[in-house]
Amino acid sequence: MRALALVCLLASLAAAAGDDGTHADAVTIVTARKSDWRIVSPSAAAPGADWASRELQRYLHQMSGCELPIGGRPGSKPVFVIGLRAKLSRADRALLPPPAPGYDGYEVVVRPAAGKTPARIVIAGENGRGVIYGVYDLLERLGCRWFYPTEDAADPEVVPRQDSVSLPAGSWAVASPMKFRICNGSEWFFEMQPAPALKQLEWAMKARYNAMGWQADTHTRLDQQYQQLADGGLLAELKKRDMMLHGPAHSFNLLLRAEDYMTNHPEWFGLRDGKRVPQTFAGAQFCWSNREARKQFTDNVEAFARRAPQIHILCLVPFDGGRACECEQCKKEGASNLLMLLMGEVIERLKVCRPDLLVETVGGYGAAMDPPDTAQIHPQQRVVWAHWGRGYTMGYDDDRYDRKANLEKWRRAARGGITLCQYYTDNFAEPWVMSPFTVAMEGDRRYFQQKGIDSVYMLMWPRGYWWNHSLNGYLAGRCFYDFSLSPYDLLHDYAWHYFGPEAGPLLGDYFEAWARDPELCYRVRGDSRDSDRTALADQRKRLLGPVVKLVASDSLLAYRVSKVEKLHILAEHLMEVHRQRDEIQRLRRAGEFEQARALLAKSRTYTDEVLALFYALADLKQGLIERQEVPTFITANVKNWLEEEAKAIAAGNRD
Ligand SMILES: [Zn+2]
Repeated sequence: MRALALVCLLASLAAAAGDDGTHADAVTIVTARKSDWRIVSPSAAAPGADWASRELQRYLHQMSGCELPIGGRPGSKPVFVIGLRAKLSRADRALLPPPAPGYDGYEVVVRPAAGKTPARIVIAGENGRGVIYGVYDLLERLGCRWFYPTEDAADPEVVPRQDSVSLPAGSWAVASPMKFRICNGSEWFFEMQPAPALKQLEWAMKARYNAMGWQADTHTRLDQQYQQLADGGLLAELKKRDMMLHGPAHSFNLLLRAEDYMTNHPEWFGLRDGKRVPQTFAGAQFCWSNREARKQFTDNVEAFARRAPQIHILCLVPFDGGRACECEQCKKEGASNLLMLLMGEVIERLKVCRPDLLVETVGGYGAAMDPPDTAQIHPQQRVVWAHWGRGYTMGYDDDRYDRKANLEKWRRAARGGITLCQYYTDNFAEPWVMSPFTVAMEGDRRYFQQKGIDSVYMLMWPRGYWWNHSLNGYLAGRCFYDFSLSPYDLLHDYAWHYFGPEAGPLLGDYFEAWARDPELCYRVRGDSRDSDRTALADQRKRLLGPVVKLVASDSLLAYRVSKVEKLHILAEHLMEVHRQRDEIQRLRRAGEFEQARALLAKSRTYTDEVLALFYALADLKQGLIERQEVPTFITANVKNWLEEEAKAIAAGNRD
């Protein structure tokens, strides 16, 4: 709220001060595209500090056409001082407010000229990430916004153009209660492409994530994949931002490969229906009770950890979708117990070669639903707890939340720390037209605060939905960095800056309506009612329709609004399918089989049209819909009821 209140204040100041931007307490950085400011850093060699200076230079240049020099001696000229708090001069440190408690913090002071002392802006970070966040905060106060990765060339970042740039005097300090805010961008899964992966990394840092989550592909050797991250420049990009790397996530099959060991040691692999099988989809997890298998696995983890120095949290998760080994010993000991035994051996081994490395595995998910009941969980064991398919209609703090007991058990078991995997940004698990999940974000944040949870993981999937779910990714990044921010304020700020001051207030109301009623998006996917259809029709009439007219003459704003409108049209179509289904069922139950049959034939055509709309949206490649999902999950959802209904009508079933 603090930052946003200031943005509004700035807007009113600018309005009151007129075009030259001068104000009694304002510090002017650029006047008529000219500036005598420069940027200096007493800790340019520290990770993050140099990047922070260059980001400030780059965006001020984009805004005003004026490029501030970096380095040199300011003499009697005004200056930005950017760097680690600990490396600043005593005099600069004295200007700063005390640091806020927490992680990745920063302090900023904007001091006007006084007598012969020139104006000075000091941006100090507790670490490199803090320095960079301090610069982004300052740029946001000047009107810059980074709501989306720059994956759509037709939709640039929000950078206001102005001949003069000024800021009100003041000072402030911010830090995060969350130690790890991990962005598992959709381009950081499986076979990665460096260019879009970099765009997501850039955006994640701006949205205040401090780590990228990497999900390895299922077949390439891990050291080779890590080398690809290096060759694609991504490790260097992380380093210059002082960002961390988390991964390789689901990867057990690569750490005990069937190709390497199955022939000579079939007993190392999992038993399924009486046969030893590899760690593949129709296979099983390897035999976690086999001591030799665990030893070889641990050897291979150690070899990989030595070759992957930039991994900060080594997250090792059994291959996805696999059941546990069914041998007598594994069944007797229990999957969770054995997983924790295995991981404990890994942690002990890595203590020597990588004492800095944090080790995490999964809990509440897959083969390890319940916490271990007999195994001694290693005190340094971290757990990433995941509730796939969670409905984001309430926070973890809500007493109605049905998996709270499991979460609480794992939280207490994971003495090395727990990371909560969030699916706010997963259109596979969550609806295709998503609400902003602000209700859940606020409740989750309260739960984190109550329980001292300090790590969150944002799973973004699949890649074809990147624009669709980035708003939730942005809101979560900002809200989990700074707990004082209201996600509703952020929503209105988003609407105002992204869609412009004319359309902004209406679209702010539009997004808030979806946000306040998160059940709506789940009903739109599966089972809407007349009241939902009325609500969307009302939104179109009162909000979207007028907005489309307001932005018609601005091609960029019209383009952005068109993305919102396309998803709204999709929601209306899905709800019309539900209306037709309900009507056909009503007729059948009333014994009106002929009429029901006639309407069903029309629904076959209509659902084809809805699928055609999905394909059309996917083919726009605007990040709205993932094309690969249309012929599979989406078709099943839209069409499967037709066959069941046809059978019921043919059978004269009135149930
Ligand atoms: Zn076994």
